[in-house]
Amino acid sequence: MLDCFKKDYSKPSKDYGSHGEGESFKPVWGYIVPHTEKAQGAETPDNKFSEYKYGLGVAVKNADSLPWDDRNDGGVSGAVKRLVNSKKVNATFEDHKNAYNNKVGGAEILCIKGDELSKYYAELILAAYKLKYPNRNIRGVKEMRKGGRGYNNLKAAKAAGADVALLGEMFFIDNPGDFIPVNVYADFIKEVLV
Ligand SMILES: [Zn+2]
Repeated sequence: MLDCFKKDYSKPSKDYGSHGEGESFKPVWGYIVPHTEKAQGAETPDNKFSEYKYGLGVAVKNADSLPWDDRNDGGVSGAVKRLVNSKKVNATFEDHKNAYNNKVGGAEILCIKGDELSKYYAELILAAYKLKYPNRNIRGVKEMRKGGRGYNNLKAAKAAGADVALLGEMFFIDNPGDFIPVNVYADFIKEVLV
């Protein structure tokens, strides 16, 4: 069982992974709005929210405390480079939503297979989500190989300078029963990433 069940789950209770000799890793998170203004990803059945619009709403709500960027200029790579260079970010969360058949629900976070530091933070975030939403389905951390879902995005984030790269799909945007209002979800993101 993770330490985070006993302690303040928004702050990792132990440092994980050495980031140089005698130095431990402390994440400085950046939030990435998924998709682009031109191709906005999956939508709610009423078309009110696309993944892009939803993510933008979350980003703007948390802008005072959580650095964010989007993929409109230079894709994931451009977003992460700007966050790393001007906001000192070393950990990124690209905040997608899942979609399937309007009925399935649940939360999962993708990272690159073998990236143990990223996996550690993915598990912490899912544990915090489980505490906040005990009745929701936790689909778990999915470790992606080359060619897998999200792999290229994650690889681009790492190549652009992120030590931790995660791609979240915390609920199904096409399932009204799984949907979370933007302001409520933005508070959760702030709790776990700030
Ligand atoms: Zn998406």
